[in-house]
Amino acid sequence: MEPAPDARVLVDRARAAQSSWGSRGVAERVATLEQLPQLLLGGIDCLADAIAAENGKPRAEALAHELVPAIALARHHLGAAVAALGPSRITSPTAPYRSAVRMHRPYGVVLAIAPWNLPFLIPFSQVLPALLAGNAVILKPSELTPRVAALLVEVIAACDLPADVLQLAVGDGALGAELVAAQPDRVLFTGSVGTGRTVMAAAARFPIPVGLELGGVDAAIVLEDADLEFTTSAVAWGATFNGGQACCSIERVLVHEDLHDAFLVRLRDKLQRIDIRRDLAPAIDERQRGTWQRHVEAARADGLTVSGGEPLPDRRYAPTVISGDGITNATVWQEETFGPVVAVTGFGGDDQAVALHNDTEYGLTASIFSADVARARALAQRLNAGSVAVNDVAATMYSTPELPWGGIGRSGFGRSHGVDALLDAAWVQVIDAPRGPAFGPKRPWWYPYGPELEDAMRALGAAVATARPATRLRGYARAGHLLLSMLGRQPKL
Ligand code: NAD
Repeated sequence: MEPAPDARVLVDRARAAQSSWGSRGVAERVATLEQLPQLLLGGIDCLADAIAAENGKPRAEALAHELVPAIALARHHLGAAVAALGPSRITSPTAPYRSAVRMHRPYGVVLAIAPWNLPFLIPFSQVLPALLAGNAVILKPSELTPRVAALLVEVIAACDLPADVLQLAVGDGALGAELVAAQPDRVLFTGSVGTGRTVMAAAARFPIPVGLELGGVDAAIVLEDADLEFTTSAVAWGATFNGGQACCSIERVLVHEDLHDAFLVRLRDKLQRIDIRRDLAPAIDERQRGTWQRHVEAARADGLTVSGGEPLPDRRYAPTVISGDGITNATVWQEETFGPVVAVTGFGGDDQAVALHNDTEYGLTASIFSADVARARALAQRLNAGSVAVNDVAATMYSTPELPWGGIGRSGFGRSHGVDALLDAAWVQVIDAPRGPAFGPKRPWWYPYGPELEDAMRALGAAVATARPATRLRGYARAGHLLLSMLGRQPKL
């Protein structure tokens, strides 16, 4: 294997390549990448094989959770980029003689640091908006999934992307740290809270703006009128797809006490009936599976009821349900397990459900199940979670390209996907210029100050304070008259 190139060399190369890429208009960059959805479609089976081989997830999940959403995301971003990132005019009644334009300028060199659990879609979601906004990108994938990342870079480069506009940096956390220290202009990080803190602290030295997408202990809330059959199927899938190794997998379930016992019986039954060899992804490595086992053992030691909860051959793990008194103090409730393990508790009313849900420092996604969609929508507004799905598993929202994605609290900040991701990839510059020729030797509010300026400012204040059009017009007219009449009389200064 070739030695990893020096981080500073990568950043220098990216910076050199970015200047001409960034000076192209957004429409030209869209045209360069226009073939991307078709190229992805053409390589879909080869990419699915690579994801399944390297990450271990079923091929069906590689297609459904990564590749088809990537194609949809590419189509969305290519379609939305010009409107989102092109210049737009801003008018202001307080400066009617001027016209401002909002520009979206690339940061320069963006460093994208990615995890292994969605080895294609997550880095793709970081890289594409950054490129469309005119940045050069260095992708540092997880050391556990470098081959998928190499294919990702290959497929984007096949769009005649100029050399070094997108570079791959394969290595572990140490290389990630070196890349941050080499001072890119922006860092996008998706991964665990602990590493996110380290990355943010390192970036703070310069400072470099960061976007953080971190973990979660996402919950499903099951109201008393929920359809038990549908909801238990949803939770069985939402807690275990990708072997539960998703930031947005369901780790906690709050069930109305009327349904609690029946819910537990049916959920355990459904989890036991999963075809583990065919459908359940293995742990990415023994370290990951060790975390699951540790959390489950801690629950047993706390006297909680555990069904499943045992290692199986080929790094698999029996889908696990944990319940019992005091569960909300247990590690499985408080900390991200990131495995096929779900903790269930009951609640008595909506207020208690909200309090239990929000009693965590995380806030990525939530799912609410109810026959009354309006009630569930209202409840959603009380939950501290970036994405809330009603009668579905919120994880699915990650596959919908229009929906902005991200959390609050320990789950991070910034948004990927949707127009928000495109806007997040650029900084805003405003350029303001006169509409027509100059109307005086200077502005009346420059030196020297005097009582007329104060009168004019009072009139302007009255105009901007009111919501009534007639009063506003009168205020502007008086302020304009006073300011214009000052122009001729002021000494030059
Ligand atoms: P991780 O934090 O261990 O690693 C993530 C990346 O950071 C890897 O590429 C790693 O090499 C790199 N890294 C490690 N130390 C670094 C350092 N000091 N400086 C710079 N880079 C460094 O996370 P992981 O195990 O790969 O992924 C699982 C975690 O990611 C879970 O917590 C999961 O919830 C989270 N995640 C969040 C989202 C989201 O959208 N919010 C999506 C997927 C995964």
